[in-house]
Amino acid sequence: MFHVKQPAFDVIVIGGGHAGTEAADAAARIGARTLLVTHRIDRIGEMSCNPAIGGLGKGHLVREIDALDGLMGRLADAAGIQFRLLNRRKGPAVQGPRAQADRERYRHAAQAALSARPGLSLLEGEVTALVIDAGRVAGVLLADGVRIFARTVVLTAGTFLNGVIHTGDRRQPGGRIGDAPSLRLAAQLAALDLPLGRLKTGTPPRLSGRSIDWDRIERQPGDDDPVLFSFLSGRPHLPQIACGLTHTTQETHDIIRTNLKRSALYGGHIAGVGPRYCPSIEDKVVRFADKATHQVFLEPEGLTGDRVYPNGISTSLPAEVQSAYVRTIPGLEAAVIVQPGYAIEYDYVDPRALRQTLELKRQPGLYFAGQINGTTGYEEAAAQGVVAGFNAALAALDRPPVVFDRMTSYIGVMIDDLTTRGVSEPYRMFTSRAEFRLSLRADNADQRLTPIALALGAVGPGRAAAFAAKSEALAAATALTETLTLTPAEASRHGLSVNQDGVARSAWHLLGHPDIGLDRLALIWPELDRLAPEIMAQVAKDALYAPYLDRQQRDADALRRDEAWRIPDGFEYASLSGLSAELQGKLAQHRPETLGQAARIEGVTPAALTLILSVLRHGAPARSA
Ligand code: FAD
Repeated sequence: MFHVKQPAFDVIVIGGGHAGTEAADAAARIGARTLLVTHRIDRIGEMSCNPAIGGLGKGHLVREIDALDGLMGRLADAAGIQFRLLNRRKGPAVQGPRAQADRERYRHAAQAALSARPGLSLLEGEVTALVIDAGRVAGVLLADGVRIFARTVVLTAGTFLNGVIHTGDRRQPGGRIGDAPSLRLAAQLAALDLPLGRLKTGTPPRLSGRSIDWDRIERQPGDDDPVLFSFLSGRPHLPQIACGLTHTTQETHDIIRTNLKRSALYGGHIAGVGPRYCPSIEDKVVRFADKATHQVFLEPEGLTGDRVYPNGISTSLPAEVQSAYVRTIPGLEAAVIVQPGYAIEYDYVDPRALRQTLELKRQPGLYFAGQINGTTGYEEAAAQGVVAGFNAALAALDRPPVVFDRMTSYIGVMIDDLTTRGVSEPYRMFTSRAEFRLSLRADNADQRLTPIALALGAVGPGRAAAFAAKSEALAAATALTETLTLTPAEASRHGLSVNQDGVARSAWHLLGHPDIGLDRLALIWPELDRLAPEIMAQVAKDALYAPYLDRQQRDADALRRDEAWRIPDGFEYASLSGLSAELQGKLAQHRPETLGQAARIEGVTPAALTLILSVLRHGAPARSA
């Protein structure tokens, strides 16, 4: 039994999900004596839903976590069984690394990493209350009555606060399948009069791989040249697998439509708001009634074991209805469900109650991170965990806080969105949320953020050395491209089309042209070919975006000035074809009076604001009477 009578810790982290894992690791890296208390140590690093990390926007967050020497990138690389770079054909700014992970190996990697972290202790138990002393959080009370004291506490309870699991009209208390909810802690938070709300999310049934007719399923291999997450990783550690792709049918949709009333979502059993961006299959069948089929990706949950995750059919219908509709999908005619899908409803804290450090404004010393703040997704949770872990440790050690801003990171975008706009549905990251996305690329996350972590003293020696060597090589390669020059006449002799204006162009400048690649310049200047390929690839991306960055900065400054623009009462959002139907509806409902107010409505993107502004400048369309 673990008894602590003295304030033995600087930081206590409650919860060993993705937020708690990173928070505990980050706090210990700062040098704080840290304790992670969680229900079960063997479930640290559990992926409650899909066995995948990254994707569009989310992949950027993982790179940023890695740049801050966090764990998620390295864990995903260690457990990755299929790597794909999404949007590969688009520009580097919107490409998103994604990996499908072996669920068990991911968990093991997370547990091994935390066990090896100096200054971090792990404790299995349930926190039933926060210990509050003279208006300040002073520690935690465990279910067995033990009190443990610390200078700061990070709460990362995920979907566990007052969690209720729904399958059809059956409901049972639960933090996720197989785990009890946190009821007593939720009651204390409510008694503290925190601004709490209800959200919901869902997960699909899991299938037995052996019961799938793989011959009827289209196979989807990973990339031939896998792009990993961590700036420290080379090649994948594990053998790589293919996933499957199949589709729902008209019969699937008929069964779902007939049983809609039995769905927890549609039968009125759930009060919480769900994620529009990750709709259940019931949602898709209703909202996109004209679509004849929906894609279903079959993702094995690991190299060993038999469970397959059918991505695209999350549901809260009764188990027997799930079984019936799954069997109408080609290749799944004999599929056996090993765990039915379900929806979960839980309490979250309105993140506007938090500072940008993720400390609760009215309760100094208490930090919140992860799904509890109204987000959804492992990556969003982990990124908040790093921020809360750093700040809880810095406060405990009487050091100044660290704040991430919108101009230098997606982490900053997310935290600013959460703490200034709040959420009206589970928040997930998209590249469109970042107005500075041309500079916030996944490939340059280390150049943007590792110096911040170095200044905090939160970077291990291996990464510090690798970063220093890379930065030096980048600076030398950039300087070289700036010194190699061609006159316009020489350029045209090499087949490069530039204005014949007598002005010499450097290799750096030429790389800023989308149609002039590194390979062509290396024919002119062979010394470019002798530099490390990954360094030259990075320099080429930096050069490609350089001309846009100044313009981006000017646009952002102008937009800030333009916030005062008034939007007339009858502004007709429906006529703006560049706005999604969702945003048209949201803006028409909120009817912001100024562009600034429109900007603070959750989900309104910089691109949408630019569009509205251009209409305002040219005379706004009004609603007909
Ligand atoms: P969690 O991963 O939930 O971890 C919380 C941790 O806190 C757990 O380890 C728990 O044991 C511990 N804990 C809680 N209370 C206490 C206490 N009182 N004492 C001690 N320990 C405690 N994300 C997506 O991106 N897409 C999806 O489609 C999606 N669907 C989901 C469906 C379901 C059914 C669930 C459960 C989650 C889903 N998620 C989805 C969300 C994803 O799992 C979470 O976003 C992510 O895991 C959140 O991480 P977290 O660290 O905040 O919380």
